[in-house]
Amino acid sequence: MVVKEIIHKHLSYTSIPEFFDGEYWPSQIWYCLRKQYYSRVSPIPMSLESKKFTTLGTIIHEFIAETLKKEESVRVESEVPIRIPHPNRHDVVISGRADDIIIVTVGKSRYVVEVKTIDDLESKRSYLPRKEHIAQLNVYLRAYPNSKGIILYVDRGSFEMEEFEISFNPDLFNETIKRVEMLHDYLIKRELPPPEAKENQDMKWQCDICEYRAKCERQISSNSNKKF
Ligand code: SF4
Repeated sequence: MVVKEIIHKHLSYTSIPEFFDGEYWPSQIWYCLRKQYYSRVSPIPMSLESKKFTTLGTIIHEFIAETLKKEESVRVESEVPIRIPHPNRHDVVISGRADDIIIVTVGKSRYVVEVKTIDDLESKRSYLPRKEHIAQLNVYLRAYPNSKGIILYVDRGSFEMEEFEISFNPDLFNETIKRVEMLHDYLIKRELPPPEAKENQDMKWQCDICEYRAKCERQISSNSNKKF
């Protein structure tokens, strides 16, 4: 148990991310709006289970980037900064260090690669690629015009992989911008957004790994009690 305890102790050291007003990360915009609101207004540290989940994702991402770097004809960049000002609102920007993508250049072709780790890829093939993953990559494609996007799903258990090629979609980018605006307005007004993931079949899985689930459910039940 000695080694396990040491690893758990280190995994438990979590710092709460520092958010700046008006700056929104591409990797989070398609999370449940209520969850994003909580994580900015009353943040709590990530649970050990979530930390394990993200740590495995990071390890696999780094392995993929390092493996691609071994290919002589390929140029690889990771942890690239992204900054996309809102087209109409000067107080809003999509920004962050894109440490979840890898830029791969082969000759004159450039690919923006988003690596997503997943449990039981085989049973989820029919749901892939997920809209929120396409939308996230779509933001990066806006920052890297004339690039192709690739979402690479990697099974955490079997290391099976599946890749999807994505092109920039301006309508989806506008949807993303609208989400950023909505979240920004909720935050400015300090108004709690609806429990988006609970109300949307395609997003419900987010509730299973949400640190704010208990708080969110207390809020839902207090709202329903007020109706009687
Ligand atoms: S429990 Fe679900 S609906 Fe509630 S904040 Fe978390 S992800 Fe959103």
